[in-house]
Amino acid sequence: MKQKDLLYTGKAKSVYHTDTKGKLIVEFRDDITAFDGGKKDVLKNKGSYNAGVSAFFFEHLEKNGVKTHFFSMLDPYHMIVRKLEMIPLEVIVRNIAAGSIVRNYPFKEGTPLNPPVIVIDYKDDAHHDPMLNDEIILALKLVTPAELKKIKKVALEVNRLLYALLSSQGITLVDFKIEFGRQGKTIYLGDEISMDSMRLWDKKSGESLDKDVYRFEKGDVMAVYNQVAQRITRPVKKQ
Ligand code: ADP
Repeated sequence: MKQKDLLYTGKAKSVYHTDTKGKLIVEFRDDITAFDGGKKDVLKNKGSYNAGVSAFFFEHLEKNGVKTHFFSMLDPYHMIVRKLEMIPLEVIVRNIAAGSIVRNYPFKEGTPLNPPVIVIDYKDDAHHDPMLNDEIILALKLVTPAELKKIKKVALEVNRLLYALLSSQGITLVDFKIEFGRQGKTIYLGDEISMDSMRLWDKKSGESLDKDVYRFEKGDVMAVYNQVAQRITRPVKKQ
C-alpha cells in the first residue's frame, strides 16, 4: 500500500490518503501537547509507543466484538485504518474522579465512580471542546438518537474490556477518551487509545502512567511511556 496526499494534520497525528479505496494511513507523530495546545514538545519515539498500544487495544477490542477502524501496522509509526466520516464528539468514560471532573465539580480526586460516568465533549477547538448533553448533541444534529445510544453502549463495552485487561497488568484505568466515525450507516471506533488519551494509575504505587506525567512534570515522560507500552503489550503469561 502506498501513502498518498495528506488529508489532515492534527496536534499529534497526521492522516494520509492511500492508493487503496476506503483506507487511510494514520501517522503517530512524536509531538505532544497539553492544556489546549498551551504546552508543546517533541519527544523522540513517543509516536511509536502510542501507536503500538493503540494497535494492541484495537486488536483486543475487535477480538471481543467491538468494531474498530484498525487494519494493521505498516511500521511502528504508521497504522492502516478504515476511512471514516468522523463524528466530532469526544466520548469520555470515567471510573475514578480525576482531572477536569474534579476541577469542575465537587468530586474528591480518587473517588470511585460506579457505575462509570460518561461525559461527551464537542470536538471543537474554537469553543474549547465544551461539554454537551444529550439534548444539545441531538439539537446540533451531530448524531441520531439511535447512534447516540449505540455510541454510549460501545463506550461502556470498551471500558469493561480495557478495565479488565489493564487490571490484569496491575494498572487502574481511571478514565479515557475515544472518538467514533461512520462508514455508511455503521459506527466504528476510530482515532487512538493510548497514553495520551487514557488516565492510568499503577495499582501498587498509585503513580501516573500517562500524559499527566507530561502535563504536571511528574518525571521522565518517555521513560514512563516506554515502560507502560511494554507492560501493556507484553504477551499474557499462560498459567
Ligand atoms: P486533533 O485533531 O485532536 O488535533 P490528532 O492529531 O490526533 O487530533 O489528529 C488525528 C485526526 O484524525 C483527528 O481529527 C481524528 O478525528 C481523525 N481520525 C482518526 N481516525 C480516523 C479515521 N479512521 N478516518 C478519518 N479520520 C480519522
